[in-house]
Amino acid sequence: MSTIFKKIIDKEIPANIVYEDNDFVAFRDINPQAKVHILVIPKKEIVNLNEASDEDALMLGKLQILIAKIAKDEGIADDGYRVILNVNKDGGQEVFHIHYHILGGEKIGVLNS
Ligand code: 5GP
Repeated sequence: MSTIFKKIIDKEIPANIVYEDNDFVAFRDINPQAKVHILVIPKKEIVNLNEASDEDALMLGKLQILIAKIAKDEGIADDGYRVILNVNKDGGQEVFHIHYHILGGEKIGVLNS
């Protein structure tokens, strides 16, 4: 089932997009948990990491390289940042289209706080 992120991909709802190509979109989180909080998603609709398959391996690898590029473009790479991928209920996943959070621009607190 499609999610709000599919609507962002299809430009049916607005988002503050910082990067886009044929395979990926990155946009600022609507409820930022850090000075820089960006979500990076593949355009392919994958529910979460549990649903990724071997055929997604190259794409997900490219997504990780893209995360580093975006961090550099945002000027947060040298000081550092955190990448989070939430899966299902206990992981705190709310939107069921796989997405990686990039959090930075300040010291990121301890996990699970
Ligand atoms: P999750 O908890 O699923 O890992 O994270 C979902 C994230 O998506 C949350 O941080 C939430 O603030 C963000 N989010 C939910 N709806 C929207 C939206 O419509 N636009 C944007 N930019 N972010 C959203």
